[in-house]
Amino acid sequence: MDSMLSPNFREEDAHEERLRPSFLNEFQGQNIIKENLRVFISAADSRGDALDHVLLTGPPGLGKTTLAGIIANERGVEFRVTSAPAIEKPKDLAGLLTTITPNGVLFIDEIHRLKPVIEEMLYIAMEDYALDWIIGQGPSARNVRIPLPPFTLIGATTKAGKISTPLISRFGITFHFNLYDKDDIVKVIERSASIMELDIKDDALFLLAQCSRGTPRIANRILRRVRDFAQVYEYDFINSEIVTITMKKLGIDSYGLEEHDRRILYTILKKFNGGPVGGENLAIALGESLDTLEDYYEPYLIRLGFIQRTSRGRIITPRGIEHIKNVYDIAGDD
Ligand code: ATP
Repeated sequence: MDSMLSPNFREEDAHEERLRPSFLNEFQGQNIIKENLRVFISAADSRGDALDHVLLTGPPGLGKTTLAGIIANERGVEFRVTSAPAIEKPKDLAGLLTTITPNGVLFIDEIHRLKPVIEEMLYIAMEDYALDWIIGQGPSARNVRIPLPPFTLIGATTKAGKISTPLISRFGITFHFNLYDKDDIVKVIERSASIMELDIKDDALFLLAQCSRGTPRIANRILRRVRDFAQVYEYDFINSEIVTITMKKLGIDSYGLEEHDRRILYTILKKFNGGPVGGENLAIALGESLDTLEDYYEPYLIRLGFIQRTSRGRIITPRGIEHIKNVYDIAGDD
């Protein structure tokens, strides 16, 4: 899946590092997470300890990596970034942990994908700040315990359900990210527009927020495309007119849905009589993986109230039917 509205990281997002907040007061929304974090950081600061290990869960593009960096910045400690698939061998993990500066942060993205042998090493590292290392082979092999500097592990995942119980239990702090509400996305766009030195009117802000699927990464991406259209069409400022033009060109409707979302609604309605349809069957009918369907498309369609997940499968709601009927000529189609 590589659509304009994919919450996944795309090459083009790399240019926008400057939009990434560095400190808590620049991080918009997620107020409860921020409030709690301030307390935990200040307590760890006053004790001079490493912050407890933190697990961040939730859909992509909502700021998990950003928040991990902020934690390190707020504490003024080293920030090391890796992802579970990059830690292939025990020595990779040992290399990261034995050289980290005291109280530093190790961020592991996609933590649900750790290999079992690495995960077991992490248990001891997280609990005792030590690594158990086996020297030699066969009967002469012996276990050596290597002490580590105190550190904070921050794990992030879009699939909290796939993390093992022993690993979850070693995180002292867990935050779940939900899609942002419209007011908070407005704040994200306002901040990004000001960094990009764009003059953006209120009507444009609200329209953009409505099309951003509650996801800061998507909000920033759409804002960049609107900037392009405004520049080429010679708009001095960004108003709802140029936002509407951009959305039309990109095939994004007023709910922030793309063709693929609409195809999901259409498929449930037409091929499965409105549902219930199991995730696997729906994914096959769409030619999509179940993971992509569940992680990227469904949360927003559910948030909009267009589909529901029931124990017997997905169903399209009257609201979803109404939306799709406005888009396609359902009556004359089979
Ligand atoms: P993934 O799961 O794909 O790694 P993520 O949850 O780690 O995604 P980030 O990379 O942290 O998401 O965020 C994506 C972009 O959205 C960041 O570059 C940042 O500019 C912006 N962003 C995220 N959260 C916020 C926020 N609360 N305030 C302002 N900007 C934000």
